[in-house]
Amino acid sequence: MTTDRLERARAAMADADVDALLIGPSADLRYLVGYHALPLERLTMLVVPRDGEAVLVAPELEAPRAQASGASDLADLRTFGETDDPIALVTDALGPAATGRLAVSDRLWAGFLLALQRVTPQADYVAGSTVMRTLRLIKSAEEIAALEAVGAAIDAVHAQVPALLRPGRTEAEVGRDIAERILIDHDEVNFVIVASGPNGASPHHETGDRVIEAGEPIVVDIGGTRAGYCSDVTRNYVIGTPSPDYAQLHRVLEEAQQRAVDAVRPGVSAASIDAVARDHLEAAGYGAYFVHRTGHGIGVEEHEEPWIVAGNELELAPGMAFSVEPGIYVPDRHGARIEDIVVVTDDGVAPVNHRPHELCVVDGP
Ligand code: ZN
Ligand code: ZN
Ligand code: ZN
Repeated sequence: MTTDRLERARAAMADADVDALLIGPSADLRYLVGYHALPLERLTMLVVPRDGEAVLVAPELEAPRAQASGASDLADLRTFGETDDPIALVTDALGPAATGRLAVSDRLWAGFLLALQRVTPQADYVAGSTVMRTLRLIKSAEEIAALEAVGAAIDAVHAQVPALLRPGRTEAEVGRDIAERILIDHDEVNFVIVASGPNGASPHHETGDRVIEAGEPIVVDIGGTRAGYCSDVTRNYVIGTPSPDYAQLHRVLEEAQQRAVDAVRPGVSAASIDAVARDHLEAAGYGAYFVHRTGHGIGVEEHEEPWIVAGNELELAPGMAFSVEPGIYVPDRHGARIEDIVVVTDDGVAPVNHRPHELCVVDGP
């Protein structure tokens, strides 16, 4: 699988007129060679010359982890000791490409890039995404299967959320219980948002000590990583009876989310999906309360291309995977967001998540 990815990377480099790809610890590195490198102060770098052998430069003490990941079967592992110069190993691996056009991973720390630039004064640097985005944007059948598996795993966690919600518990207590359940069928917890009452109006609310009361809505947005692929699903809960205005708001949001999902198919633009959700919320008078884009791509990273946002004329194509997650955030009152991951198919769309969209009403005290 990953051998094929390095070959595809070389093809993308040829298209982008890039002579070598330099990838630090990142989702790109995991994607290309399966190595989950630690973002240390010591350099780890995959060097992929367009015409030449791929080399993985890594600290000597990380060699066991690099080998265990299988990355050393795909790239020649060259380690350095505590007093050696890793930058010299990189320039050596670059060979003649050191004077060419180098695509360096978007998430590489500036300190490493500055050190590289000092020793490669003739090189022309471009963003690694120039090469990587075309690879990661279209998921293979294997990647879609991984997204479906991790999607089922997070759906199973949402199914357990009602049992965790009781008046008097804090967001943090509920959040810890959710995190434990995510780990049952994920390798990592990526985030847990439990936003009760007015906290629901902050899309990325940091789960805290607020005590959850009966009758107030709770936005639960959770995600993790399983076998290298990410999940991300949001549902809204209420203990007891919701206020009529919240119930109404939620119905409109369900419609907006469903319409946006139904509009997904090959050939339409990413922007058009955002417009479907936004137009529906605007028509119902909630436009000013929808303060973010409609979605983001997902794969080896929680947030990656394609961005489902106004102005993005990118045409959707089979194999793209992204969230559809409109929200309504009324400051100081409450908020709601409905989020599923969907995959573009040959003739339409296939959601990866299958939990009911309705406001989940949990029995009151
Ligand atoms: Zn987010
Ligand atoms: Zn999301
Ligand atoms: Zn989310």
